[in-house]
Amino acid sequence: MRTIELNQRQELILQIVKDNGPITGEQIAEKLSLTRATLRPDLAILTMAGFLDARPRVGYFYTGKTGAQLFSERLRKLTVKDFQSLPVVVNESSSVYDAIVTMFLEDVGTLFVVNAEAHLVGILSRKDLLRASIGKQDLQSVPVSIIMTRMPNITMCASDDLLIDVASLLISKQIDGLPVVREVKMDNAVKYEVLGRITKTNITKAFVQMASDEIH
Ligand code: ADP
Repeated sequence: MRTIELNQRQELILQIVKDNGPITGEQIAEKLSLTRATLRPDLAILTMAGFLDARPRVGYFYTGKTGAQLFSERLRKLTVKDFQSLPVVVNESSSVYDAIVTMFLEDVGTLFVVNAEAHLVGILSRKDLLRASIGKQDLQSVPVSIIMTRMPNITMCASDDLLIDVASLLISKQIDGLPVVREVKMDNAVKYEVLGRITKTNITKAFVQMASDEIH
């Protein structure tokens, strides 16, 4: 299976290198009765996509990697920073009512709760807010800090983390999203500043992008 569409000439080049490698660009060009310059873009594509390996003064080798292997290698290189969204935060003293309004206005499924220093203290999901709403409490007077999932029980990630690791965490922890954070040291304690949000939606977008990706 090839996940990257190769044109007929690229397939031909691949076959030639498979049968004759190591082989120089010049020799491939000769076999195809084409100029080296005409072949250059195809060779660049095949090398960048990982089908071929180029060694200076030796020539091109067939890597033997299948399209599926190359797809998986590329997937494992995706990082959080390229797919994260802006975080939506509420203050820990906000009411449950205000959090519900924020969730509708910002059109997100997860809110991050911060303290006065803007450090992460909790997280609120749709169901956390629904659960609070079916009680008899006055939602305007209950602060979110009463109902949120709080630190240190929050699963977080950093923008340099791999997207595939975040996807695994979402599955194993059965949650919809993670805050993307940066550590800050304060009074000998580690605190977290919220930089972004990464959710199942971001991962779905990465999945769609991978499927429609040209080689780059
Ligand atoms: P929902 O509750 O709407 O189905 P989730 O599955 O994301 O949404 O949340 C399930 C529970 O896990 C909620 O109580 C929520 O507060 C908590 N939660 C959500 N995200 C995280 C996270 N990153 N770390 C820890 N707990 C979380």
